[in-house]
Amino acid sequence: MTIRGKEMDTKYIFVTGGVVSSLGKGIISASIGKLLQARGYKVTIQKFDPYINIDPGTLNPYEHGECYVTEDGMETDLDLGHYERFTGIRTTRHNSVTTGRIYKTVIDRERHGDYLGKTIQVVPHITDEIKRRMLHFGVDKLTSEQVDKSDVNGKGNNSSTRQLVNSLTEYDFVITEVGGTIGDIESAPFMEAIRQLRWQLGRSAVCVHLTYVPYLKAADELKTKPTQHSVKELQGMGIQPDILVLRTERHLDDSMRLKVASFCNVDLECVVQSEDVPSIYEVPVRMQRQGLDAAILRKTGIPVGETPAMIPWNSFLNKQRNATREINVALVGKYDLQDAYKSIRESLNLAGIYNDVKTRILFINSEEITTGNIAEKLRGMAGVVICPGFGRRGIEGKIIAAEYTRTHDIPTFGICLGMQMMVIEFARNVLGYKDADSAEFSKVDKLTSEQVDKIYVIDMMEEQKSVTDMGGTMRLGAYECELVPGSRSFDAYGGETLIRERHRHRYEFNNRYKEQYEANGMKCVGINPAADLVEIVEIPALKWYIGTQFHPEYSSTVLRPHPLFMDFIKTCVNGTVEA
Ligand code: GLN
Repeated sequence: MTIRGKEMDTKYIFVTGGVVSSLGKGIISASIGKLLQARGYKVTIQKFDPYINIDPGTLNPYEHGECYVTEDGMETDLDLGHYERFTGIRTTRHNSVTTGRIYKTVIDRERHGDYLGKTIQVVPHITDEIKRRMLHFGVDKLTSEQVDKSDVNGKGNNSSTRQLVNSLTEYDFVITEVGGTIGDIESAPFMEAIRQLRWQLGRSAVCVHLTYVPYLKAADELKTKPTQHSVKELQGMGIQPDILVLRTERHLDDSMRLKVASFCNVDLECVVQSEDVPSIYEVPVRMQRQGLDAAILRKTGIPVGETPAMIPWNSFLNKQRNATREINVALVGKYDLQDAYKSIRESLNLAGIYNDVKTRILFINSEEITTGNIAEKLRGMAGVVICPGFGRRGIEGKIIAAEYTRTHDIPTFGICLGMQMMVIEFARNVLGYKDADSAEFSKVDKLTSEQVDKIYVIDMMEEQKSVTDMGGTMRLGAYECELVPGSRSFDAYGGETLIRERHRHRYEFNNRYKEQYEANGMKCVGINPAADLVEIVEIPALKWYIGTQFHPEYSSTVLRPHPLFMDFIKTCVNGTVEA
């Protein structure tokens, strides 16, 4: 491809982390992506996670936060949500790779006979597979000859070379974030793959290392030693970082940066600091001010040029800074953990900012909700989100919340399991089916032999009935939904009749009861045309009472907040009296 009139090969940026986890590698990777995009480059970002699960789909949110779903139906790490929200790119199954997937590919190939006669080893076979995936999105100078060389004396397999050449696409920059922290046993093969790629790619590869500079209160000092150790560890694996991003709670002066630069063999202008900021969306501009993107361009031999103004992003930040009026939105769910409902939280925040308010999100544990305390728990809430989830635990609380908000006309947004709970509540309290339930919970009911009397207004999808494996077998990814003209949802989407949203579920609205719902005031206003599956229910008589089987939160971005969240928050704001 041509960039500024010149042919350019794909450049690869590797982002690693040291000292401690949770430093925000995902935010830094997403920010780098945003800054390079603002300069007109085509960028993609991928995450490599060193755990053995094939994907995080079967993980409890307490283990790994939210499971983020791509349009093509891959269950992935929540960092992909940051990538999409920051850059607006649409990730795919290729943007999320785990050790489990790497090993599975290699082991499947071994069984297939692709390596006949060879001993399969971490180096080169696992590292070659990691490299193949790291290069997946690139157009590069790695001719098959060079790749063969990298495969260590021909031990590797030639089919991976062919696949590499076949997989060429048109990205100027491929950012690869490696999960975990330097020194973890699990991440060693990834580090070795990066080391080899740097050697092969020369200036087309850049290593960004994110570390932590702690502040010791008793000594009133910032300490760079952990960073020095972390870089030494990286160097010990044969990787010299090009750029260091230092996470810090306090400002680092130039002498501190110089110290780090000289101890770590890094140019002074390549030592940038990432101080704590009130919002993650401030990070790209902070990084730009310190020249992080310019440093990357210099390292890869690309003319730096003018600093882009990032007008839309900055006007969003201005809106964010000016949105001081607060509204309270309750999140009714069972995981009391910031990361568990990450995309919902961010979607609410973003929609708030565009509606000129700060959304204060208050988590309400559905397991603690009773008919006696619900009024107290929801006091002062401008709106309520009933969260997605799996399993019986906490569902009765969600049903009580749905009843309370329906009967008190509090704006309510039910997402996936949240929508299903709205449907069950309506059946129990309006349609008069006291035993209405979801077939998801039938296993429990079998034990108490109550099952026969249950009315499953939420039933298992036909296609799911023969499924036995748990991983990656739900209805996943983007499917079409036809909206009913004149409905609130249709209006929220700006009058579009056909939308596409992402899914992650096994159960669905039972169409056998559809007429009764509609006759009693709950309308099915979004339908998947291929499967006749109910995607959206709403009660038009109420201010805002909408449940979606899909997950709109996955497709809300900074510059394009999701229309349903926008309309929900707008209604919440309108119903709140200004203090
Ligand atoms: N457990 C429900 C189902 O499988 C809802 C899933 C969800 O909320 N993502 O249909």
